[in-house]
Amino acid sequence: MTAGTHVLAGILVAAFLKLPVLPAAVGSLIPDVDIGKGLPPPYRRTLFNSHRGITHHPAVPLLLVFVAFFLKTKGFCDIYIYLISFTVGYASHLILDVLNPLGIPYGFSYYPRFSLKLMKSGKLGEIFVILFLVSTLLVFVNVKEFRILGFSFDDKFLFWIKKFVEEVSK
Ligand SMILES: [Zn+2]
Repeated sequence: MTAGTHVLAGILVAAFLKLPVLPAAVGSLIPDVDIGKGLPPPYRRTLFNSHRGITHHPAVPLLLVFVAFFLKTKGFCDIYIYLISFTVGYASHLILDVLNPLGIPYGFSYYPRFSLKLMKSGKLGEIFVILFLVSTLLVFVNVKEFRILGFSFDDKFLFWIKKFVEEVSK
């Protein structure tokens, strides 16, 4: 998946849950900070030396949820909401990567991995994902209720999203 697809998914899920969308957009990009590590031969891959290792492990968003709820009990309610939104974006990234044959790790090492193997890597599958996300966005999400960091947004933001989608689908 490309970064644009991940951001779109993160924004969509956050908007569904009426969460601020900016933290989710950021969270949706973070797992791929490991992209520079590349993919060594399969037998040499560990959670820490390969793309889609530890940053793609479902334990990360689970841990973030615990941290968020802990912060909430301490009275940090704004940070709690932002962190939940960030986590939602993060988790949406992992869910999208599960569609792809490489999948994500779920144990204590690079293997075993969880994958739905729905799409071969490549453009066509991703275009379907983008179409699905955009149509869901347009049909189900009231765009006027988008919140960037707590403020509601108006039609200007809809215009912005359209520009973004055009950019992504080039
Ligand atoms: Zn990824």
